[in-house]
Amino acid sequence: MTINIILLGPPGAGKGTQARKLVEDRGLVQLSTGDMLRAARSSGTEMGKRVAEVMDRGQLVTDEIVIGLIREKLSEGGNGFIFDGFPRTLAQADALGQLLEETGMVLDAVVEMQVDDEALVRRITGRYTCGNCGEVYHDDTKPTKVAGVCDVCGSTDLRRRADDNEHSLKTRLLEYYKKTSPLIGYYYAKGKLAPVDGLADMDRVSDQIAAVLPLSREIATGT
Ligand code: ADP
Ligand code: ADP
Ligand code: ZN
Repeated sequence: MTINIILLGPPGAGKGTQARKLVEDRGLVQLSTGDMLRAARSSGTEMGKRVAEVMDRGQLVTDEIVIGLIREKLSEGGNGFIFDGFPRTLAQADALGQLLEETGMVLDAVVEMQVDDEALVRRITGRYTCGNCGEVYHDDTKPTKVAGVCDVCGSTDLRRRADDNEHSLKTRLLEYYKKTSPLIGYYYAKGKLAPVDGLADMDRVSDQIAAVLPLSREIATGT
């Protein structure tokens, strides 16, 4: 049974953390446009150079670029997709709808991760990730067991993102409210929206998402 879901929420809501769990537990494929854009910028391509500055300022990259990235990946099937950080605009949402239709796929649910702004500042300023395996950590809520060493792969390449500072976060939040939050109404109207309490601890959030998944199948098939 394939499942295709979107994780929707402001920066720091926990999308990446939950996406990684779903990859592990359900064999879904994580499509994170943020990760794809970071890979592009570190590969030094023309596109990478263009997006780096935009990302560091905390603004959104153009729809054209991210839709192109997603289009390339959709052929890679598996048990389904987790769209993490995409779509972020109404134009992206329309484009995704079209791409799914073309490939005969169904969107099962849009998990809206609700977190208040104050918590987001703490989430973002405490975040670091493993440069080798991508595991996501936090200074207070999820530190590595041994300081400076990744629990999962043993790498000591732990990194903080250039845009994870309070200044860029302000821009990122504004971008979210102006351009991305209208997607909540958009997917509500399509009967796909599933709100979860993103302030709960990580395992409770996973439980809430798990509870949404089988239900979403019923919505999708109309039974
Ligand atoms: P977060 O995990 O904090 O929500 P992401 O890693 O998803 O952040 O995204 C980091 C940056 O990459 C964004 O601030 C934006 O500049 C760019 N980006 C990622 N996804 C998109 C998208 N779907 N549309 C436009 N820009 C995007
Ligand atoms: P997003 O992908 O939405 O930007 P992340 O998954 O990267 O968010 O999470 C942001 C930060 O918050 C990370 O440092 C992560 O370890 C931490 N975090 C994620 N989920 C929770 C949670 N439920 N409770 C506490 N901290 C969390
Ligand atoms: Zn690691």
